[in-house]
Amino acid sequence: MILPTDNKKLTQYKQDKRDIFMATMITEDCINCGACEPECPNQAIMEGNEKYVINPNLCTECVGFYGYEMCQDVCPVVCCIPNQLLRESEETLYERAVKLHGDDSLPPKEELSPETSRFRNPDWENEISDFAEPAEDYTEYWED
Ligand code: SF4
Ligand code: SF4
Repeated sequence: MILPTDNKKLTQYKQDKRDIFMATMITEDCINCGACEPECPNQAIMEGNEKYVINPNLCTECVGFYGYEMCQDVCPVVCCIPNQLLRESEETLYERAVKLHGDDSLPPKEELSPETSRFRNPDWENEISDFAEPAEDYTEYWED
């Protein structure tokens, strides 16, 4: 994927792609093993037509549950990776987790730790590629 170098065009590009891009994505390297699906605390992963897909409305990068992205941790080919086009803040991801699970199921925001937020995990590391993109257009799999 070749990204626009002009800032204005890049911003527009991100807006145009917002519906199919998410903070964590599954790339075309997916071998459809299914290992990630049951491990996601938000049930954000499902089998797509070609590869497994992540619902961006449900993914929290595991904030509130783990100090790393569990899907990447279990993936044998490391194809659940951060999307460089859409980085979301811990606050945004935490608020999504609260919306999905309620306050009672999560630690308070001020008590997020290296074990429950990758933003606070000094050992967090993840594969990053400026060129990777989702394996397919995910929009057909969910309404909102
Ligand atoms: Fe699910 Fe976490 Fe992977 Fe997002 S990063 S899809 S919340 S396992
Ligand atoms: Fe695909 Fe990795 Fe999930 Fe297996 S664990 S289905 S290879 S994304």
